[in-house]
Amino acid sequence: MDPSRGFDGTADVVIEGKRISCVGPDAARSITGERVRVIDATGCWVVPGFIDLHVHFREPGQEYKEDIESGLRAAAAGGFTSVCPMPNTRPVNDTRAITEMMMARARAAGGPRLYPIAAATIGSSGKLLTEMSDLREAGAVGVSDDGHCLMNAGVMRRALEYARTFDLVFSQHCEDHDLTAGAQMHEGEVSTRLGLGGWPRAAEDVIVARDLVLAEATSARYHVAHVSSLGAVRLLREAKSRGMAVTAEVTPHHLTLTHDALLGYNTACKVNPPLRELEDREALRQALKDGTIDCIATDHAPHSSLEKDCEFEAASPGMIGLEPAISVLLDLVREGFLTPLRLIEVMSTAPAKVARLPGGSLREGEAADIAVIDPNRTWTLAPGALRSRSTNTPLLGQTLRGQVVLTLVDGATVHAL
Ligand SMILES: [Zn+2]
Repeated sequence: MDPSRGFDGTADVVIEGKRISCVGPDAARSITGERVRVIDATGCWVVPGFIDLHVHFREPGQEYKEDIESGLRAAAAGGFTSVCPMPNTRPVNDTRAITEMMMARARAAGGPRLYPIAAATIGSSGKLLTEMSDLREAGAVGVSDDGHCLMNAGVMRRALEYARTFDLVFSQHCEDHDLTAGAQMHEGEVSTRLGLGGWPRAAEDVIVARDLVLAEATSARYHVAHVSSLGAVRLLREAKSRGMAVTAEVTPHHLTLTHDALLGYNTACKVNPPLRELEDREALRQALKDGTIDCIATDHAPHSSLEKDCEFEAASPGMIGLEPAISVLLDLVREGFLTPLRLIEVMSTAPAKVARLPGGSLREGEAADIAVIDPNRTWTLAPGALRSRSTNTPLLGQTLRGQVVLTLVDGATVHAL
């Protein structure tokens, strides 16, 4: 499947060295020789490697949850060949030195490509802009204060102007913190029943609305991280209908779960933004289908049992997402909601476009960044089966259907079952 060409059929993919040299029915038939390696992918999907615009690898500072090496191994196992780590490490990735250190650690680890998203403001504290020119030179592809929302409209405007100057995408964590003070989960029937502080949809929607105004005024590349509310979907749809170049991502958990998952105070389902209601989930699915939402990002957020095996209000938000992503998302195909090609597009071709990254295509001449998926293989998500250093997911112990059996980066195997 190659969404960049709208191709979904049976074909051979020929790789020479680091690149794809030929794709087509019987393209490999006449290629023989001692040094030719044949990978039989019968019954499997051969797709462009996935690209995740939103992961948390916790290095520097909290390597007991995940580090760049373990994060990249988890990414490879999930079929991801490029990942964008968010800057909310300790310290925050707000300088050239930290961006360069992350890039160097990724090179040493090998595996998927790492494209950091650096902080938009120093310490992500929302006050002073970072040196975006330096950050870009060091390898950052975007800026964000993820984990926090850039609340000050004046600083946000200047951040967008600055990001545009250096051709960086601005990814916003849309949350009006004044509206979410004390929030533990989505504000609704379930939060009332559980007696937990609510995170109203409005807190997301007002920031998306404000940012769309600022993004239009500055012509910046504005991207909404982890959309979760139907109101945000409406605002995005309206903006796109007027031709605005805004983009957006949605997580696998917001596409598949609702706030009902929190009944029983399951801290594995505590995420930010929170799991919302059925009508939000349906709006997100529809938006992904019709292109209002561009792509899927996992928001892979590893935490140890210290942060999760505790009372609900003390638990940190977030769940791991790289390794189970395709298994969970295949349900959308099995339910007939997405075509296989659209699912692969929102995992590879579309995110490449949003962040202007290489990849997301199986065209001849492209780097051989490829995932091979067996859509029917079953596996049990047990701690021992994960490459991630953390196991915080509500799927723990469940048997899932569909798994990545091989991942190649630059033609080299970075994951194989
Ligand atoms: Zn966030």
